[in-house]
Formats: sequence, structure tokens, C-alpha cells
Amino acid sequence: MAHIISEECIKCGACQGECPVDAISEGEDQFEIDSDTCIDCGACAAVCPVDAISEE
Ligand code: SF4
Repeated sequence: MAHIISEECIKCGACQGECPVDAISEGEDQFEIDSDTCIDCGACAAVCPVDAISEE
């Protein structure tokens, strides 16, 4: 299991600094979560201003 970022992402970057395992990176159209690295803590989802992050 991992968290995922939907296409609603506005690329604000708020989530990236919150991830304790550095699983979030900036993709071409939106930020992305590496599912192999994500430990499902939910820290990123809590700070997303447009609620684009959810559990897979
Ligand atoms: Fe990182 Fe936690 Fe979000 Fe997974 S759920 S991407 S570990 S902040």
C-alpha cells in the first residue's frame, strides 16, 4: 500500500517537505509518490491544499 497523488495536484510542493522518507518527487504535470518508498504515514495528505493525496 502507498499513498497516491491525483491529477488535481496543482504542484504547490507543500507535500514534498513533509515526507519523512523522501518518497515524493516533482513529475512533469504533478508531484508523484514512489510507492516502493512510501511507508503510508499520511503526513503529505494532511498538508495538501486541494486534497489531491489519498490512500491507494
Ligand atoms: Fe511520504 Fe508518508 Fe506521504 Fe507516504 S504517506 S508519501 S511516507 S508523507
